[in-house]
This record gives sequence, C-alpha cells and structure tokens, in this order.
Amino acid sequence: CGIVGIVGVRPVAGRLVDALKRLEYRGYDSAGIAVIEESELVRRRAPGKLENLRICLADDPVDGVTGIAHTRWATHGVPNEANAHPHIAGDVAVVHNGIIENFAELRAELTAKGVSFSSDTDTEVVARLLDDYRSNGMAPRDAVLAMLQRVSGAFALVILFKDRPDTLFVARYGPPLAIGHGEDEMYVGSDAIALAPLATGISYLEDGDMAIIDRDGAVFCDFAGEPVRRQRQPLQLSA
Ligand code: GLU
Repeated sequence: CGIVGIVGVRPVAGRLVDALKRLEYRGYDSAGIAVIEESELVRRRAPGKLENLRICLADDPVDGVTGIAHTRWATHGVPNEANAHPHIAGDVAVVHNGIIENFAELRAELTAKGVSFSSDTDTEVVARLLDDYRSNGMAPRDAVLAMLQRVSGAFALVILFKDRPDTLFVARYGPPLAIGHGEDEMYVGSDAIALAPLATGISYLEDGDMAIIDRDGAVFCDFAGEPVRRQRQPLQLSA
C-alpha cells in the first residue's frame, strides 16, 4: 500500500523506514525492505507494525545505498512474512501496490515451466516473470517492458535488479507513483509526502508510464518503450 525507493550515495535503510512511516496513514498489515549490500540483494520483512521491521533491522541491520521498501495491505495471501514485499525471484526484487488481475493465469504458466513460488501473492508473478526473462538473456529494460505487456490490473511497481545496483525501474497503471529529485540522489514513492524531507523536485508518473531512475535523474517511456516527457515540479511540502 505504500512504496518508497532510493538510489543514493548514503545509507538508505533508516531513511526508507522513515519514509514508510510517513505513509502509515494509508494503512498496512506488514512491511519490508530490500537493499543492495556488497553486490547482493538483502531483505528484511515483518508482519504487523513498522516497529516490528525496525526491531528486525536493529537485530540484523542491512547496509546499502540503493533500496526499496513497502508497507502491504494484503489483497491476495494472508498478512505474514512470506507474503510481505519485497518479493525476490533470482536476482530481482519487486514491490507492488495494487492487484495483478491475471496473476492466476501467469502463475499457472510459470509453474508449468517448472518455476516455483514462495508466496500466495499476486505480486510474486511480476518477480518470477522478470527472473524468467532475465534468465533467457533479456536486458533489464527489455525484461520490464516484456513483463508490462503480460500483466493486467492495477499497479505501481518498483523493481531492483542485483546487477543494476544504481538503478530503479518503476511503472504505473492505477495507483499513484511519484519520483523525487534530490541533490545527488533520486527517490520514488507512492506519494509526495513520503519524499518531502528528501526531495527538492518531483515528477509524477501517469498511467501507462515506465521510468528508469538513477542518481542523475529519470528517463520516462510508455509501455511500448517510446519516450515520453514528464515535468519536474518544485516540491514544497513540509515533512
Ligand atoms: N496485491 C498485493 C498483495 O496482496 C499488493 C497489496 C498492496 O497494495 O499493498 O501483496
């Protein structure tokens, strides 16, 4: 239900959890985070309050300058650790707001190919599809575009590939997603409030937009890969 991501130059874990805190008003039943630490995807997840994730991170910290985080409002699969986001398949981590309507069909198709699932969520098909495309040699951007051709429903997605530790791939169809511009970092969140203390400028994804974010900025395209332009506006919310 809440999404945040940072492509940064300073440690992100504490700032991601703080940003999730600002999204608490939206409601949630579990929370999780994934960062790139020493070239590996590492993840912590906890059902219940954000405080449970904080405790988990205090006991077993993660260290990285790129990461994604999520508060979940379960639609498919009970609220437990296995169903909490981020979902990881191979070398890709995904957070998602919304519902993948055709997940059962996609899951059956992947299962028939021998892919196994570790959650009951609709979201996991996104991660498994991406992993399947990458395993077949597709570049990250092509894999994301191919995945977007297959999924239907409502989604705000933020995707982190282990071998692209300085990049986030994001897409929107339905639930809102905003990109925050900072000094030497970039941010993404399900609303501007999440990014307010971090970002100085903001760009909104429109339905049918994908964007590739790195520390230098964001490049937008549609789901066919055709470039689109989105305005950057000043962000003047107080935290
Ligand atoms: N449908 C997804 C799930 O149940 C995402 C829910 C959300 O928007 O938090 O895991």
